[in-house]
Amino acid sequence: MDIKIKNPDKKNKPKTAIFILILIVIGLLFFSLPFLFPNIFDNFNWKQAREVSGFGACKYDIKHIHNELMLYKEKNGNFPVNLNQLISKNKSMKGIPVCPISHRDYCYETNTDLTHFTVYCKGSFHKKAGAKPNYPRATDKSIDDVEDGL
Ligand SMILES: [Zn+2]
Repeated sequence: MDIKIKNPDKKNKPKTAIFILILIVIGLLFFSLPFLFPNIFDNFNWKQAREVSGFGACKYDIKHIHNELMLYKEKNGNFPVNLNQLISKNKSMKGIPVCPISHRDYCYETNTDLTHFTVYCKGSFHKKAGAKPNYPRATDKSIDDVEDGL
């Protein structure tokens, strides 16, 4: 094939054509993957993968809330009455997250003296990821990591 440059001002035209050709080849490869390797794609459970990644995100949220609660206690001497008290403009927490799977608020419980707390994902929304009901959770005694309830 002979590519002639009709307009000498547009010297990048052949490069553009090659780039588009590469994109088309990549696109074709991407769409033909399930046909080339049907076993991998049939055995891969997309819904379960979503559940597991959502469980990880839920754990991360609870860990984040736990850390903010510990900082709050350091500063104020006790834990807050509710999670909204963690929100402030200059801090790392600008809003209270919700569980990515249940789309519900995290449950926060304290004793009357505000010296202990439990924060957890209420319900059995992470059953498919292998977790017990009302997990993941963290308490004021959680030192290393969130309890995942697996
Ligand atoms: Zn959750």
